[in-house]
Amino acid sequence: MILLINVLFYITVFKKGEFMDNKYDVYFNGTHKTTINPGLVKKRNITDEQLKVIKNLYVERYTIEELMKEESADNKSELKNFFEKWTNNQFYIQKTWGAEPNKSLHPFWQVPHCNCPNHLKGGYQEEAITHYNKECPVHGN
Ligand SMILES: [Zn+2]
Repeated sequence: MILLINVLFYITVFKKGEFMDNKYDVYFNGTHKTTINPGLVKKRNITDEQLKVIKNLYVERYTIEELMKEESADNKSELKNFFEKWTNNQFYIQKTWGAEPNKSLHPFWQVPHCNCPNHLKGGYQEEAITHYNKECPVHGN
């Protein structure tokens, strides 16, 4: 019985410690933006070095999005340039997680000035990237 309690205590403390460990937190401009999923880090055998790379890539993503926010919606060519950088950033994130780079899994509708349909509502779909709002300053014509 004592052994069981010890084991449960260990599991509780270990789990708690794992999620309270701020090495998984991503900050941008001094604000906590997101937390990398520790369970997935473990499952994918992500090293501390790779975790740092992933966190830096998230910071890069937020930086690109911040620059896009500051850009006028009329400046379509500049927004499209930023979106190309954003797409490459997403590819690097996928690669660092050990996943196949796959454009159709990028949450492209989350970038500033995008007014494409929110594909997240229907879940990620293979055809996600093939339909968009043609009036969108980022993805439109
Ligand atoms: Zn769009």
